[in-house]
Amino acid sequence: MLTLTANDIRLGATASDWQDALTQAGRDLETAGRTSSAYLAGMNAREQQSSTVLGNGIAIPHGTPESREAVLETGIRILQFPDGVTWHDGARVHVLVAIAAQSDEHLDILRHLTRVLDKPGLAEKLAQAGNAGELVALLSKPPVVAKCDGDTLCLGIEATTAQELALAAAARLQRLRCIDADFLTEIITQPPVALGRGFWLVHHTLGAHRPALSLATPKKPGPELQGVFCLAGPGDECHELLERMDNFLAGDGGIDGLGIDALLARLSGEASDAVTANVTLLNTHGLHARPAKQLVQEARRHNASIRVRLREGDGSAVSATSLTRVIGLGARRGQTLVLSATGDEAQQAVTALTRAISEGLGEQVSPLREGAPNLAEAGATDPEPLVDDEPLKAVAASPGLALAPAFVMRQPRLTYLETAADAEAEIQRLNRAIDESDGQLRTLIRQAEGGEAAPILSVHVEMLQDEDLYQATLEAINEGASAEAGWWRAIDTAAKGQEALADRLLAERAADLRDVGRRVLANLCGVAMPTPPDTPYVLVAEDLGPSDVARLDTSRVRGLVTARGGATSHSAILARALGLPAVVGAGEAVLAIAEGAELVVDGERGCLVPNPGSERRERVLRRIDQLESLQAAAYDHRHRPATTRDGHSIEVCANLGNTAHTPDAVERGADGIGLLRTEFIFMAHPEAPDLDTQVWEYRHAFDALNGLPLVARTLDVGGDKPLDYWPLPQEDNPFLGLRGIRLSLTRPEILETQVRALLTAAGDRPLRIMFPMVKDLEEFRAAREIVKRVQAEVAAADVQVGVMIEVPSCALLAGTLAPEVDFFSIGTNDLTQYTLAIDRGHGQLSAESDALHPAVLRLIQMTVEAAHAHQRWVGVCGELASDPQAIPVLVGLAVDELSVTSRRVPLVKACIRELTLDEARAQAELALTKASAAEVRDALESF
Ligand code: PEP
Ligand code: MG
Repeated sequence: MLTLTANDIRLGATASDWQDALTQAGRDLETAGRTSSAYLAGMNAREQQSSTVLGNGIAIPHGTPESREAVLETGIRILQFPDGVTWHDGARVHVLVAIAAQSDEHLDILRHLTRVLDKPGLAEKLAQAGNAGELVALLSKPPVVAKCDGDTLCLGIEATTAQELALAAAARLQRLRCIDADFLTEIITQPPVALGRGFWLVHHTLGAHRPALSLATPKKPGPELQGVFCLAGPGDECHELLERMDNFLAGDGGIDGLGIDALLARLSGEASDAVTANVTLLNTHGLHARPAKQLVQEARRHNASIRVRLREGDGSAVSATSLTRVIGLGARRGQTLVLSATGDEAQQAVTALTRAISEGLGEQVSPLREGAPNLAEAGATDPEPLVDDEPLKAVAASPGLALAPAFVMRQPRLTYLETAADAEAEIQRLNRAIDESDGQLRTLIRQAEGGEAAPILSVHVEMLQDEDLYQATLEAINEGASAEAGWWRAIDTAAKGQEALADRLLAERAADLRDVGRRVLANLCGVAMPTPPDTPYVLVAEDLGPSDVARLDTSRVRGLVTARGGATSHSAILARALGLPAVVGAGEAVLAIAEGAELVVDGERGCLVPNPGSERRERVLRRIDQLESLQAAAYDHRHRPATTRDGHSIEVCANLGNTAHTPDAVERGADGIGLLRTEFIFMAHPEAPDLDTQVWEYRHAFDALNGLPLVARTLDVGGDKPLDYWPLPQEDNPFLGLRGIRLSLTRPEILETQVRALLTAAGDRPLRIMFPMVKDLEEFRAAREIVKRVQAEVAAADVQVGVMIEVPSCALLAGTLAPEVDFFSIGTNDLTQYTLAIDRGHGQLSAESDALHPAVLRLIQMTVEAAHAHQRWVGVCGELASDPQAIPVLVGLAVDELSVTSRRVPLVKACIRELTLDEARAQAELALTKASAAEVRDALESF
């Protein structure tokens, strides 16, 4: 994954201070085409969270997860500061490794770097390297990965002498391709050396291809013969293995009755009296630098020697107080960390660490979900065939609408023999097929250069070189499997392992493994992959691998449909990047669609329709035309007001989660900020930000707005928005518990400081303050009292105070609130959650949680009527405001303002300009008569 070239390096840099150095790193990434300019703000925000200094004079600046959208292509840039720069945490830094990466790639890069950077003396060499080539060589050297895991343990061998066990242990290493026959010959002639307590060792370097340690134990151990270690590899590559053997021998007691897990624990240095605990990592992006740092800081608080290892993998344990080593574990969401501690505070340390890890190490985490049923297995019965002209619901993956004949990409049937007699010949065939696949992938990468597919295809090249996959295949071939059978078994096992992690993101990466696997398999079978037609088509497939998408001719493909996959699968990500309408997870039945059958793909509503009837067909074609011209014109006219054809104007504002994005929102034509989610300022600091910090942030937004209004929501934490330094007691129903304004009112001084900062920053500029999750007038009054108190001290000329309508009670009681508020802003995300009783983050139910539900629309209607009766304005700032089907309904319900993500502002404005108020009212009235969200959407389609 990490391919460094001299172009990625800048030697002899100088900087006035750390901020200057960071800015240079951000610019270097941008100049190299890795990121857009917005990434630098993410890098700054990341430093505000905590320093990215790794130790040894090296810092690894990178953006926050939110800034990953600004990453154009994964990559790193290295800046060498020979004179050093003092970082904000006081550390002296000589080398900046600036990282631009999306999702879990970040972890892989860090892992690679920490393995390399951990070498003693390397930091000095990096700081003094005289040319870029030298630096590349120092950083690119792949770390040698020693093998010692469950595979290298051979337990309960029928043997009575140490020599016999030595041969069994060596034979195991040969089967794992760590050694060859020369090594074996040496071992046959070498008497084992006694290590004491019935353990023995054989060791050699000749014929060792990879440092490895195996252990063979006899079926009937006795005091003279407990087990024999076989160590392969030169001494300087075997440090870690020797350490593990030492750990093992230092442990007390015999090994009789110990299983593989217990033996691996002993090898990892876990004392038999250590306090241990297993804890599952829940962090979405794994144990990357920030959570790793929290783990290390927690470990350092205790007077105990604490080690941590991954239960999965090779099981080597590292000190929990070493940041580079903890990052180097490369732990991912869903994996299990095994903690072990000895010393006075061992129990305390393990308890505290277990809690800290379970709570996310400073990050918001969600529990793992139950494994989703495997479609192939669940669908043992034939799926119901699709009905012509009848919509089939699927997961909306990429917006847009398409109509074209289907090209069903059926995977070619690959037939092969399961077994083969000549293992050597099979290995050669395997190697050839892997090389061929490598060449094909590299060609695809060149063709996809600069696009979203290229980095994913590069991951495929990495997968092809995966040592474990290769070893597992060789093992199967050596046991008599054909190259095809061995390879597919290895791929399938690895993919299933990935799926079993029960993490949606990781599980969906199993598709990548199968994609690579199929390519090699097809090459082994000499079968070409299917070729799409020359005319426009909708691609239908079981699941699309990135290389399938990369092969697509985007001038012909109009839309994508897959039987499997979720909204975060690579095919969905790529479809969005290519701007192709897509639905995924449509079920196996789509694979039975006849070649050439016409297909409607609706990526907004998440459905497809086979063979649409003439009426639907015409409607769809009309909508496609409309959408295309709307999109093109929308951007050109983004600064024009959103006024309906009959002269009714609606404000279209932007929702922001960071004041740094204000200029971008204004550039996209926003009429103001309709929702500033102020939590970001509070999350970016280790404790509640003080007045000056907040004033600075808000002023930044007001300055960029140039007189346009800013609607700031006061701090909304609790429930789905936790805050580290505002710990809450465990609640059975946190979504119905202490959150939003309820929580803020328990610490009025925090709310007061925020209000003071907003008023101070506003001066005479238009400021709208609103409170989140208000349930009734009483709560609003309590919060407004605070505003009034501060207003008496801080003069601000143009201030309005309102409430968010997110709790149904507030909508029902809007008539009682309206006389006292200045405005309402409807948060449809939460309003829908509480009206329909569907957790907004629920994996399986999220498709049901549709804000176009008539119940939600009625609450909006009640709110608007009550507000207008008292001449108050009403905005909608939930996701519903950017839904093309909902916009006319909201306009028809007489909403005065829509606030949407910046990117959608031009399109929403354009959509409003197409309407007349009468048409919009008709749509709203129609929607209100329906009984479900699906009925509403169906009815609206006729417009
Ligand atoms: C909402 O609930 O609709 C809303 C805009 O607030 P948030 O999504 O931040 O909870
Ligand atoms: Mg909300």
